[in-house]
Amino acid sequence: WTESAGFTESRVDGSHRSTAGAPVTRALSIVVPCYNEEECLRQLHARVTAAARKAVDENYELVLVDDGSKDATWPMIAELARTDPRVVAVRLSRNHGHQIALSAGLDICRGDLVFVVDADLQDPPELLGPMIETLRANQADVVYGKRSVRKGETKMKRATAKLFYRLLASISDGVDIPLDSGDFRLLTRRALDVLRSMPESSRFIRGMVAWVGFKQVPFEYEREERWAGNTKYPIAKMLRLAADALTGFSIAPLRLASYAGIALSLVAILLVVYALVGWLAGEAVEGWTSLMIVVLVMGSVQMFVLGVIGEYVGRLYNQAKQRPLYIVSEIAGSVAGTEEFDPIRRRN
Ligand code: UDP
Ligand code: MG
Repeated sequence: WTESAGFTESRVDGSHRSTAGAPVTRALSIVVPCYNEEECLRQLHARVTAAARKAVDENYELVLVDDGSKDATWPMIAELARTDPRVVAVRLSRNHGHQIALSAGLDICRGDLVFVVDADLQDPPELLGPMIETLRANQADVVYGKRSVRKGETKMKRATAKLFYRLLASISDGVDIPLDSGDFRLLTRRALDVLRSMPESSRFIRGMVAWVGFKQVPFEYEREERWAGNTKYPIAKMLRLAADALTGFSIAPLRLASYAGIALSLVAILLVVYALVGWLAGEAVEGWTSLMIVVLVMGSVQMFVLGVIGEYVGRLYNQAKQRPLYIVSEIAGSVAGTEEFDPIRRRN
């Protein structure tokens, strides 16, 4: 796998930002964002360890990122780091959200290959071996999990997810974001380095990985039920992720606004002609109904368009603030080489 590491240096360094990353010293990193996952951690550690040993023997690290959990997740992760030299425990200063926690893990990891898994074991870590084989057989840079079946998720979640991925695919500008895949994937270092060079603060990582390009191949699997606990993605977080995805990968909503504007202007012209003809014919005044309709329709469309613009302006504002993406409060475990890591990730 060294040839791909060599490639990384020459290809990617030019576009690299100043964010200090850790040097590549492992064959494999497994990165897991964890938010209130105390019930899953032990099982996760056991299964990931077995899968990683099988694939690369001892030459791996397991990066567990605690995303400001309120339960015993951090003490458990810190304990794992004390007892298992392969574990790197990272604690964020508060709950920054799944995509940001994952970004922190990806920044600090030192592997030549990177495997991203959820803490709840919905995406079986045992697929690591087969996914590495697929990566090598196809000489690919990304192998992404594609959910053929989703177990243990509500009809509502499955239906909205299905609809969402299709909507996103149909309007995303120039990037083919794969259908029905989450962040469960395997990346090479050079793909990761490109991903890490992307400075946006509203992050939809599965889309950003698609944007990176290189050869990306799907890996079909059945998504299991959560091992324990409840989803850490309530509807509000899901909607935010969806909005980040749509605004991050498409300006179609803005265009939609202008199309709506054009269509409504045409209708308005017809209405003006109608009103003038009525006035000339001396049949004016009544028109309260039509007036109300026009006012209501125009008002609501304008509100909608303003809302769409607001979505983008809000993101521009967030980006303009240049706040650090996350703040790490503690790192524990086998941390040699991570000294270069900037615990406050600064953008640009
Ligand atoms: N997660 C996180 N921060 C959050 C929410 C979730 O790090 O604010 C983690 C969570 O611990 C899990 C992964 O993101 O490892 C996916 O969350 P979850 O399984 O609850 O989402 P679902 O599979 O229900 O969509
Ligand atoms: Mg899950």
